[in-house]
Order: sequence, then structure tokens, then C-alpha cells
Amino acid sequence: MAIELLPPQLANQIAAGEVVERPASVVKELVENSLDAGATRVDIDIEKGGSKLIRIRDNGCGIAKEELNLALSRHATSKVHTLDDLEAILSFGFRGEALASVSSVSRLTLTSRTAEQTEAWQAFAEGSQMAVKVVPAAHPQGSTIEVADLFFNTPARRRFLKSDKTEFTHIDEWLKRIAMARTDIHFVLTHNGKRVRQYKPANTDIQLQQRIAQVSGKSFAELALEVSCEHEGLKLSGFIQSPQDPVQVDTHYFYVNGRLVRDRLVNHAVKQAFAEHGYQVAPAFILKLDLDPHQVDVNVHPAKHEVRFHQARYVHDYILQALQSVLGQMPMEPVTQQPS
Ligand code: ADP
Ligand code: MG
Repeated sequence: MAIELLPPQLANQIAAGEVVERPASVVKELVENSLDAGATRVDIDIEKGGSKLIRIRDNGCGIAKEELNLALSRHATSKVHTLDDLEAILSFGFRGEALASVSSVSRLTLTSRTAEQTEAWQAFAEGSQMAVKVVPAAHPQGSTIEVADLFFNTPARRRFLKSDKTEFTHIDEWLKRIAMARTDIHFVLTHNGKRVRQYKPANTDIQLQQRIAQVSGKSFAELALEVSCEHEGLKLSGFIQSPQDPVQVDTHYFYVNGRLVRDRLVNHAVKQAFAEHGYQVAPAFILKLDLDPHQVDVNVHPAKHEVRFHQARYVHDYILQALQSVLGQMPMEPVTQQPS
């Protein structure tokens, strides 16, 4: 068999297989783009669980008319130019693949206006035909990305979509996680025209408590213990459920430099600290680890759920010790503990 270069569209669809699993993954990629663009407000409109329409509108920096086409091409990014950039990355994006991937498996419309432009422009790309058409449009500064008919041209993928309700729940759950990572941002989520969530910017302690209550319930928000530790360039902050809190919540969020991760090492450290302190089940937590981006590799997986720490043991022990010291200051035994 002869070796041939894949047509760009097919290459994009193959890449989409890794990052675009379901509507929630599209929402993740697009909202992360809005945040990278410096948006302070992001509106997310969903129709039919996202299978019919996903619309993300932001007030970020916008995309210049002459770059609209490029933004939709694979490996086109404004966030990384050199290997040094990649090794110090703090933006969510860096692969330059999301828009190309999403547009290869949907009908994508991108409308945008930068601060310098007096007019907005709109680009449209549809599944099989990569040709992008750019026309004038009306839009305030920022961008709106509409993704219609997700997987219309990849029936195998489309068949794997669950009910609208389930797909919407995935979106809602993901938004909770990003809402806790970026408490400064105003997020509004609608489904089939009805407003389902509104996270107002939380710039004061009271607003922060309200946002935590929205995500994890009132009891967690009122009783949670604050974590704030810093040592040699590692900073751990956030909240752990109080042992006196009887309400079980399913909030187990861990962020590394603002990115939600599922990391075995981190999980191990958190579990160990709680186990030593007599917790039988892991309590709820929202924890953020911030460190020099050179100390962590985020380019491990296309969906970026995993990271690799250069000094894994050190990071593990730091998290463990920081949590031990917070838990050690607690006066009472966890209420979930059985009397011996
Ligand atoms: P990446 O985020 O990895 O750079 P994407 O395919 O997600 O790749 O986006 C490509 C480029 O399009 C980004 O680097 C950015 O310059 C631009 N872009 C995408 N979405 C937005 C947005 N909402 N606002 C401004 N620029 C955007
Ligand atoms: Mg991106």
C-alpha cells in the first residue's frame, strides 16, 4: 500500500476523536478559549443537550478578520510560538486543535470583533468542506462560536450520545468545575432557552461563599475549612469539607495552575491525609495547587486532564503535609467516624 498524506479534513476528524467526545468536551474547549481571550463574562446556550446547538458568547479580545480562517486551521494558535513558551504555559490552550477538530465534526460559525475593528466578521465552516467563508456581521467586542449538529457527519460518534438530559448534566457538571477555578468570571448557562445557572463574579468573601454554595451546597460553603499554605514556590489553597458537616457532596476538585486534573499522585496524597485523620470516605474538597509552570508538564494528553510533575515525590509530600497540618488543627474527630 502506498503511503499518502491524509487530507486535512480527515486529519482533523481523527484529532477530533481524541478531544471531542461529547457536547461537554466542546463546551470545555470553547469556554477555555474564551477565558484565554481574557473574557470576564461567558454565556453558554445549549439546545437539546448540545447535540442540536452549543453557543458560547464571550467579551474577550476577539479574533481579527484576517485571522478567522487561521483560527479554524489545525495547529494554528496564538498561545505558543516556541518550545520555551510551551514549557511555561499558563493558558488553557496550546495545541491549536480545538476549533479545527470541532469544525470538522459540526457546522461551526465563528463571529468576532476585536477592540480595533469597527465591524464584526463571521466565518462559517462545515464538516466535509473546509472552505471557510467570511462575511460581515453584527457583534460587540468578543466572540460567539456556534456549533450546530455535532457529529452530523460522524454517525458512529453521534450514536454514542446519551439522552439530552444526560449530555446536559455533563455540561453542567463541567461548568461547576470551571466556575470554581475561575470565581472571577460571570457564567450564564441556558438549556433550550431556559436559564439554568448563573454564576455571578465572586470578588468578595460573601460572593465567594455564594458561589461555593451554588456548586457544593450551603452546608459545605458554611462549614468548609480553608486551606492556604505556601512553601518554596508551591502554593496550596482552597477548601476541605469540615468533619462536622453531615451532608455528603460529590465535590472532589483539584486544579493545577488553574487546570482541573485527575492525577494519581495528587489523589494519593489527598486520600492519605484524610485516611490518617480518620476519614472513612474522602470528604469534599476544592483544592488549587499553584507552582512554577516549568515544574509541570501539561502536554501529556490531548484533553489535558493529566499533568506530569518534574519533582513528583516532592509535590506529593508537600500536598500531604499541607493537608496534614490543616486537618491537624481541627478540634474534633470526623462525624463519620465509628466509635471504637
Ligand atoms: P488553542 O486554544 O490551543 O490555541 P484553538 O483551536 O482552541 O487552539 O483556537 C485557535 C486560536 O483561535 C486561539 O489560539 C486563539 O487565538 C483563537 N481563539 C479561539 N477562540 C477564541 C475566542 N473565544 N476569543 C479570541 N480568540 C479565540
Ligand atoms: Mg483552545
